[in-house]
Amino acid sequence: MINDLWYKNAVIYCLSVATFMDANGDGIGDFDGLMRRLDYLHGLGVTAIWLMPIQSSPGKDDGYDVSDYYNSDSRYGTLGDFVEFTHAAKQRGIRVIIDLVVNHTSNQHPWFKEARRDPHSRYRDWYVWSKKKPPDANRGMVFPGVQKSTWTYDPVARAWYFHRFYDFQPDLNTSNPHVQAEILKIMGFWIQLGVSGFRMDAVPFVISKKGPGIRKPMEQYDMLRTIREFLQWREGDSIILAEANVLPDTDMEYFGTDGDRMHMMFNFQVNQNLFYALAASDSRPLAKALEATKPRPATAQWGLFLRNHDELDLGRLTPEQGKTVFKAFGPEPRMQLYGRGIRRRLAPMLEGDRRRIELAYSLMFTLPGTPVIRYGDELGMGDDLSLPERTAARTPMQWSDEPNAGFTKNPRPVVPVISKGAFGYEHVNVAQQRRDPNSMLNWTERIIRMRKEVPEIGWGDYEVIPTRDHAILVMRYDWRNNSVLFVHNLDARPREIVFSAGVGDAGRLLVNLLSSDHSRADEAGKHRLVMEGYGYRWYRVGGLEYLLDRSEVETARPAKGGRARKASRQ
Ligand code: MG
Repeated sequence: MINDLWYKNAVIYCLSVATFMDANGDGIGDFDGLMRRLDYLHGLGVTAIWLMPIQSSPGKDDGYDVSDYYNSDSRYGTLGDFVEFTHAAKQRGIRVIIDLVVNHTSNQHPWFKEARRDPHSRYRDWYVWSKKKPPDANRGMVFPGVQKSTWTYDPVARAWYFHRFYDFQPDLNTSNPHVQAEILKIMGFWIQLGVSGFRMDAVPFVISKKGPGIRKPMEQYDMLRTIREFLQWREGDSIILAEANVLPDTDMEYFGTDGDRMHMMFNFQVNQNLFYALAASDSRPLAKALEATKPRPATAQWGLFLRNHDELDLGRLTPEQGKTVFKAFGPEPRMQLYGRGIRRRLAPMLEGDRRRIELAYSLMFTLPGTPVIRYGDELGMGDDLSLPERTAARTPMQWSDEPNAGFTKNPRPVVPVISKGAFGYEHVNVAQQRRDPNSMLNWTERIIRMRKEVPEIGWGDYEVIPTRDHAILVMRYDWRNNSVLFVHNLDARPREIVFSAGVGDAGRLLVNLLSSDHSRADEAGKHRLVMEGYGYRWYRVGGLEYLLDRSEVETARPAKGGRARKASRQ
């Protein structure tokens, strides 16, 4: 049932309710505001929305510190407002997935309060304790440089508690069967309110055994299967999109060899090598990353992204490659974070150069997987490096040139709006780009429309076609006797390239999907393209029906008796 595998070819749009649209004027985005912008998202063509954490939270880590899993953050609205929103999204054919943050809770969560107060509480063992300070307390921090330790002494409990993240985010003891059952209950609750699944935060940490005696990471992969089963039983088309920045040879542990674990994972390997490719104009490591992440069950899918709400983590690259990316996209210390990444948005990293931004997007939309867009990137929004840590790239959506970008009527928005300069809301906003047929917004809308017309990317098998030029990436997808082919020039200079499309006679004609500049192979079956700097091409292979001019079809049809070939020489 194709319908059940909707995520294989979705276009996902990630946003934070807090910074998207404020309807009630308190300076904080809300469900009501988001609902008013659903037609905008529908017009853009996205098929699913991923909401960053919406559950009750003291908000010390943008909602990644939950204090009540069965309620929404009151600043965003009530659960009633949330259901109105999921219903309105459904009416437009848009699915909603939400962040599920169950590696840890907030220290304000009643479970933790109870656990620290009473050693005999049933919640005591929901967290991870140690009588003495563990010797490895200063290792394994998620936010090195900002976070000092992974164990903190709690004077009330008179014990040390484990926190992989900040000290106000105590880890849940996810090996405890009661905790595991509670995680399922949380998922069941939100499914009932209309969501189609979850973007699961920090999955490798969620499934790892935790405790003072644990020296080596030990993953409990069975948990993933239990979660999958539960979802399938409750609501067959709901999914997990896993955040798991792991090595490629671990991928199948997360997907499950029988496709019985996670439906989707973000492809961090490709993400980092994609940025290297853009920085070094070298497609080879990217091709290697694609190869390394090729194995996946038929029902699984990669989530493909450029920038997300976190820093661009470069930890999977070699030190040399990492240096190249830092130099190109984040040369100054204030642009860098946690000693491993870059905290800028995409457009400023690419110096606002429209050709490079389109190239990056064209790659994201045509690499194997389901594209995940970060809100505001469809406008080419910028960042504010004067804000702390990751907040730099979490500024409010820029709707218009009204005060505070039309995001709120309140003079004090929850995060300052980017104002002045090349990326200020005065220049970069939805209202202005909507009117301009050549805007980034309208380009994105068109490319999403085309992406939806090439299901081969989500469903097909692919092959990287060799050329002699490392700055060029040529890929072909085949699915149900249809093929599409994509060419990208990673370099600023124009190049002439020669390649064979494969797939026999059909490969002699490449029909351009974005312009009328088609390509016909020469006598030897080779295509010769002149690619402009940072150029990209989307082709349907063969596809004679796309050519309305009959004579062109005759010319292009592969020679049987020699007549057509003769015609092509005229
Ligand atoms: Mg509000």
